[in-house]
Amino acid sequence: MSLVTLDQILSSDRLPSLPQVALRVIELAAEAEPNFNEVIKTVRTDPALASRIMKLANSALFGLGKPVASVDAAIPLLGMTMVRTIVLGFTLSDMRTEDRDVRAVMQKLWRSSLTQAVCAEQLAEETSGADPATYFLAGLLQDLGILSILHTDSENYLDRVWDQCEFPNVIASERTAYGFTHIDVALALCERWGIPTEIRDAISTHHQHMQSGSGVKRKPLATALQAASLSGHYSVNHRSSRRAMDNLYGFLRQHYKWQPKRIEEFMEETTLRVGEAAALFSFELGKNYTPERVLDDAKQLLEDIALQSQMRMMQTGKPGGHDESLEDPMTKTYNRRFMDRVLNEQLSTSIRKRKPVGLLFLDIDRFKSINDTYGHNAGDDAICEVARVLNAAVRKTDFVIRFGGDEFLVALMDAKGDTVETIAERVRADIAAAAVEDSEIKMTTSVGALHYTPVKGDSTDTNWLIDYADKAMYEAKRNGGDQVWLYEVKGQDKVVTKALAQPVA
Ligand code: GH3
Ligand code: MG
Repeated sequence: MSLVTLDQILSSDRLPSLPQVALRVIELAAEAEPNFNEVIKTVRTDPALASRIMKLANSALFGLGKPVASVDAAIPLLGMTMVRTIVLGFTLSDMRTEDRDVRAVMQKLWRSSLTQAVCAEQLAEETSGADPATYFLAGLLQDLGILSILHTDSENYLDRVWDQCEFPNVIASERTAYGFTHIDVALALCERWGIPTEIRDAISTHHQHMQSGSGVKRKPLATALQAASLSGHYSVNHRSSRRAMDNLYGFLRQHYKWQPKRIEEFMEETTLRVGEAAALFSFELGKNYTPERVLDDAKQLLEDIALQSQMRMMQTGKPGGHDESLEDPMTKTYNRRFMDRVLNEQLSTSIRKRKPVGLLFLDIDRFKSINDTYGHNAGDDAICEVARVLNAAVRKTDFVIRFGGDEFLVALMDAKGDTVETIAERVRADIAAAAVEDSEIKMTTSVGALHYTPVKGDSTDTNWLIDYADKAMYEAKRNGGDQVWLYEVKGQDKVVTKALAQPVA
């Protein structure tokens, strides 16, 4: 089967074709001395666009400082680049699909693109003479090529590229499958849409952060886009990607000379702005995205990295030994640091020795309403009760980890036969039946389970394991909660991506 060519992608009628009004606005904005009156006239012909611009102009995100009442007032205040960004932002967020698998990937891409946009924008604010709106636009557009290929040729792209690698490391697979990359597509589209050369040049190098330290002096926008790309990477892989955070941290430290505290504040701001921008542009970020979770993750990881560089040595932290830094203070289960430092190693060893492992990923259903109804302390008790049930259900050689907020991860080492299914169902039922001390709280959980049997040739990289358990949890949640979904994986190439136990309950 031959895959589509670059020309076919660019001429596909499924590409995000810009509406006439948007095209005209972009054209006008690209002129050396843009004619505001002409732009205002054009925008007014499209009431939907006009009202979106008004909404943005009056939002906290753009911080114009005073309310604006008309498009005529809003456009000069926003500036031409921002108007063009808004127009393009809406065009992109209008790209939709009914296909569930494609939609899930698109959500990841939206999240990544928006993160890249706001990250680049914030970096512009740090750079003298840089225009934040230009940086925002560049960040938003840099992965546009992936969206475009996905829209034109989703089945092949998912099969041959997306499922073969970890985003954003898609370049090599794209080249093998198509003979060109998403950067080629983005550049061609940007050219067609009259996006300035400055932006196109920077986009063309945004995947080169791996080759840092070469002594080549980069332009500020190119540097910001590379940082943004790492930040986007982190935003979609934050579940498992300690490496993504390491890379981002290293890059910001090297190129912007920031200390951990500064990086933490920066990421906090990025996360908040991503949420705001998504709401305004109506981008769907995916149900699993919560700013609190991203921030919690980021804080923990940064703390970890800072500690490490202070101590200049890695903890060996053998399981069993008491080490408070590996413990969640509230539930006394293991914490994320334990997962990064110890569990990953243990899982790699299991893969090397071809011992099966089971993972359970649990999330309390509608936990927020427990907090709201019974108070935060009762919410804490509920979380501790889940920890108690989990500890009671597993063996000494297994691990219970508080993954964050109301989420737990359980690693069942050397889990043979249908142990995983049995334990998953047991904990689901025990939690549903549990009585939380001094209260009438009733709670249920969504349980994602993974039973993985390594085979010869499997890589010892463990990042994907937790992602799978998380995906299964998400399926359980999506189907109403209080149920278990299980993925059976025999060798990394033979992933059965549909639930075997639908719902076990
Ligand atoms: P769903 O299961 O459908 O995802 O809904 P949910 O309400 O459980 O949503 P989500 O998992 O996003 O909410 C988790 C909430 O847990 C958000 C946060 O306020 C709360 N939370 C996080 N950590 C703690 C904690 O230590 N104690 C208490 N009481 N609440 C916490
Ligand atoms: Mg929850």
